[in-house]
Amino acid sequence: MKTKFAVEDLTIHRIIEIEEPTTGPGYSPKEFFPDLTPEMLAENRGWMTGNGLDPEHGNILLCFQSYILRTPHHNILVDSCIGNDKNYPTRPLWHKRSDPRYMRQLAETGLKVEDIDFVMCSHLHPDHVGWNTRLENGRWVPTFPKARYLFSERELDYWTAEHKKTPITYMDDSVLPIIAANRADLVKSDHALDDHVHLVPTPGHSPDHFAVHAGKREAGAVFTGDCIHSPLQARYPELGMRADWDRKMAGESRRKFLEHYCDSATLFCAMHFPSPSVGHLKRWGEGFRLNYVE
Ligand SMILES: [Zn+2]
Repeated sequence: MKTKFAVEDLTIHRIIEIEEPTTGPGYSPKEFFPDLTPEMLAENRGWMTGNGLDPEHGNILLCFQSYILRTPHHNILVDSCIGNDKNYPTRPLWHKRSDPRYMRQLAETGLKVEDIDFVMCSHLHPDHVGWNTRLENGRWVPTFPKARYLFSERELDYWTAEHKKTPITYMDDSVLPIIAANRADLVKSDHALDDHVHLVPTPGHSPDHFAVHAGKREAGAVFTGDCIHSPLQARYPELGMRADWDRKMAGESRRKFLEHYCDSATLFCAMHFPSPSVGHLKRWGEGFRLNYVE
């Protein structure tokens, strides 16, 4: 399986935590995409099967992964996935994981946790913040001890307020310990890190979601975060998913984002698309398709 990519002076690695097995759990298409009609599903079942749709049960399947981005200046982890030892009693695949594979894949890139300069969380949902921290003697400590962690300030404010109303476990174990350890940089969602890396505001799935663009010249690479979940949303950019904060805004952000990268040489690194997850975006009717890099 291809997990390493190069473009311009950038190297990109996929760190795969869970590729949902074909036996699910997954979600039924109608549950995952509330506005999906049976006709739309029937029309697309053929090309989607094995490409985000479980051939056996017809469920939507996601890959859960992080991307490592190496620029000439920095080693960056984009989105930190689910993590070990976290509490998700209702999600067996996520609950109290003790899987060594994530860290093993990091080691295989030649990097140690100390080598990560920045962790960027596209948004503050549980499958994008988990490896921010690890459990050490009963305390949650930053997994990447020398990294600065970039959060959108507006996104953090929103989830902090929600957390005060109803406690959110991943805020307690994966987000707030980073703030307490003074490792967080609170930024705007169009923040530029340097001449190689900047954030791309893509609100809607969450209040102040950002994608990450890397590359000094024309092409470079873009990391989608949850601006898009499934190849079906490339075909139908306005198709919202179950957990969108503002489904209409998410659709508008997604179309603008996909339009921008369509027919470009930019490596499109999708967060939840099935392996190999990375490709070039092409036009397809009123929508788009991702042609995977072989
Ligand atoms: Zn996600």
